[in-house]
Parts: sequence; structure tokens; C-alpha cells
Amino acid sequence: MILLNPGPVTLSQRVRNALLKPDLCHREIEFFQLQNNIREKLLNIYDLNPNKYASILLTGSGTSAMEAMLSSLIPNQGKLLVIENGVYGERLSKIAQIYGLNYLPFHLQWGEKIDLHCLELCFKKHQDLTHLAIVHHETTTGRLNDLKAISDLCKPYNIQLLIDGVSSFGAEDLDFENWGIIACAATANKCLHSIPGTAFVIVEREALKVNLTPRTLYLDLKTYCEKQDQGETPFTQSVQSFYALETALLELEEMGGYLARKNQYQMLMNYVRNELIKLGIKPLLSEGESSIVLNSFYLPKNVTYDQLHDHLKTNGFIIYAGQGELAKSIFRISIMGDISLKDLENLVDLFKEILIN
Ligand SMILES: *Cc1c(COP(=O)(O)O)cnc(C)c1O
Repeated sequence: MILLNPGPVTLSQRVRNALLKPDLCHREIEFFQLQNNIREKLLNIYDLNPNKYASILLTGSGTSAMEAMLSSLIPNQGKLLVIENGVYGERLSKIAQIYGLNYLPFHLQWGEKIDLHCLELCFKKHQDLTHLAIVHHETTTGRLNDLKAISDLCKPYNIQLLIDGVSSFGAEDLDFENWGIIACAATANKCLHSIPGTAFVIVEREALKVNLTPRTLYLDLKTYCEKQDQGETPFTQSVQSFYALETALLELEEMGGYLARKNQYQMLMNYVRNELIKLGIKPLLSEGESSIVLNSFYLPKNVTYDQLHDHLKTNGFIIYAGQGELAKSIFRISIMGDISLKDLENLVDLFKEILIN
């Protein structure tokens, strides 16, 4: 089965085989070597200095990293602005609300472009804002939010940037240093091509020194970071998931790092997008606004999502429905994972079949 949903992804055989490595106790030296190796490789993807940044590993899905990031890094006296232009932006707000953070939603329609002028007016109106949380790639629609522009706007107001990079980390550009990203939540099972089970937050070490009363036991980043720096772990990690992630990171290195993956995704996405357009299937967003990871398309006339999904599934492909209101009008294709051009050629042939019948 070829998974074209935005994670979990189609695994390479090598990553799958890594799951069969020997049993390992999470209090033994071999585990700490594994943990250190993963932490180092994650920072290397974007050339981050380990004295300035830390990668903190958690056992959970991407949402656990989002939750750890917001609950652990917004100080008692801080005020957070959350940009919402899709499901995941709204999820960031929900987390802020549950933890009782002092936050303000900046609400937009799903898929809507962030109006920088409006955002600046909001900064001017709320001079007490200290942090801004935003989704980099809004997987709801495939929109890639312009972090560079947002960061330029934040700087004069001294607003610190926290991002959900769950579906962009490892494939899209992320300039931590210049964009002033103090934290980025991400996961093993999207652009890094490993299994679900391990999520992580890349944090600027300085940001861990905030003044706050811990709001969570299990998701407290400070605790994890201290232990992991000492070569320990506060709780049991998913050992097999670490094995798989280590191998997936090795594969990323071998292919030439995130830029090589970015090029590969770009090539695959251009192919699918152009072929579907030729068949009369329209993308939701223009190319410049979309990520290279996932694109949304309007359903072809006279074909329901279920018909499309079921025909493709029978032939070995899983596509993804739209969420909420969009479920009626769009479908999504993600090209994360061990996917080749040949796979996508087969997919396009299936689309031709459906449209003819
Ligand atoms: C997948 C995803 C998440 C996390 O979802 P989980 O189901 O917890 O893995 C968070 N943010 C974005 C942008 C995502 O694409």
C-alpha cells in the first residue's frame, strides 16, 4: 500500500527492518548512545549549534510535541498570539486554552493567507504580546505560511516565534537563527520518514530558562532536556521507534540532507500537480502558496470522495479527505515517505481510469 496521507508514511524496507533490532533497556548505555545520536542528527538537519539549540525527544504523536512546546515555554507573565488558518492552528489555541495560558487567537478562514497588515495592527493594539505560535505548513489545506515575513514583523515588537513544523521539518526551509524561531514542534513520522511514536521539539536553550510554574509532569520540556543532556531519560521512551528514527535520519543524510529531500518532494509534487491539472482537476491553492509536501485538489465533477478513495485503495493507494466543511469539496495528496515517480505515474493512470468511467 502506498500512503499519500500526511503521515504515517510509507516506510523504506531499511527503516522497517530497524524495528527488528535487539531488545534494549532504556537505562542502558546503548540506549543513551541511540538517544544522543538521534538528538545530534536532528540538529544537523538544519545545521544547528548544540550549544544554542537542543532537540528534545518525546514519546507521542506530533500533538504531544505541540503541547509540550506551549505548556513549557510560555512564561507565567507571557502573552501568546496564536495564528489560526487551519485545523492545526486551531489546535494550538485549544492547547493554550486548556493550559490556561494568557492567549489571543488571530483567526482566519482555513487556507486563508495571513494578512501582514492586519497582523501588525494586532501587534500594535496588544502591546503586551510576548510570543506568537504559528503552523508552518498548514496540512489542512497545504498552505505554507510565510515564516520569514512573520518573523520580520515580530522582531521590532520583540515577539518570540514558536512554530508547529510537524509537517515541514526535514523538507521545507527553516532558518532558525535568522527567523528567530525559539521552538519548533515536529515528529518522526512525516517528512523524516520514520514510524509514529517519537515526536520532538527543537528549542533554543535560552527559552528553557523562562520563569514558569510547571504546568505538566509528563510533557515538561525542561525535565526532558536536563535528563537527556545527562544521557538519561525521565520516562520510558519507545525504543523501537528510536531505532527506526535513527535509520530514517541516516537515510536522509545519505540522500544529501533536507535540501535533497526538498528537491525530491518538489519534483514529485510538480509531477502530480501538473498531471492532475491536465486531467481537469484544479488545485485549491496556487503553486507559490502551497507546500511541496502536500497539495489539496477539488474533487472532479461527478465523482464523490468515497468513490475516488475506494477505487484508489483497491489499487494500492491511500489518499486523504478534506477536514470539516472541506470534506465535501477537496481531497489531499501528500508525497512524504518512500515514494517514487513510478508510484505516482501509476496513481495518475488510476485517475485517468476513474475519469473515463
Ligand atoms: C500531523 C500534524 C500534527 C500532529 O498530528 P498527530 O496526529 O498528533 O501526529 C500537527 N500539526 C501538523 C501541521 C500536522 O500536519
